[in-house]
Amino acid sequence: MTKMQSNAHHHGEHDHASHTHGDEACRHAVDHRQHAAEALARAERICRERGLRLTPIRRKALEALHADHRPVGAYDLADRISPEGGRRLAPISIYRALDFLVEQGFVHRLSSKNAYVACLHGHGANEVVAFLICEVCGGVDEDSSPAMKKAVAAIAETRQFSPSHQMVEIVGRCEHCRNAGP
Ligand SMILES: [Zn+2]
Ligand SMILES: [Zn+2]
Ligand SMILES: [Zn+2]
Repeated sequence: MTKMQSNAHHHGEHDHASHTHGDEACRHAVDHRQHAAEALARAERICRERGLRLTPIRRKALEALHADHRPVGAYDLADRISPEGGRRLAPISIYRALDFLVEQGFVHRLSSKNAYVACLHGHGANEVVAFLICEVCGGVDEDSSPAMKKAVAAIAETRQFSPSHQMVEIVGRCEHCRNAGP
């Protein structure tokens, strides 16, 4: 937990130049700090139940994603979890780890960002999820509703389409940034 927090601060120093407010003001960051440990424990439990292994690289990738409330690209993630001063992890290893995390529903891939975000909600991989992606603070909220699930299923049914990835990506301004902005 301490390690993840220090990572978040480390990145905060570099990536936040364009931000109008720091992590302290961003509810997304607070959400992730509060729920990361619980989500990691859930991932470990699920792996045990499914007879799968949360290998060191899978775990590191998941921890690094939980340490940031914004979506992280695969190469950026490789930099964050490669040993300091050591060799950078091969992209193929990162992608394999990410594929596993996405398949198990621990992480979501956001197509519009070509990046990954840790799931705080325990969504299954087949769940219909709406992502509210804030362009100002970079935070991502997730939501789902029976009505949306039904609507998406009806559309797919009409088109005789079998979905493998059911995500709605909505880009805009989160509640906090709307109120803080001009
Ligand atoms: Zn935010
Ligand atoms: Zn989720
Ligand atoms: Zn925002």
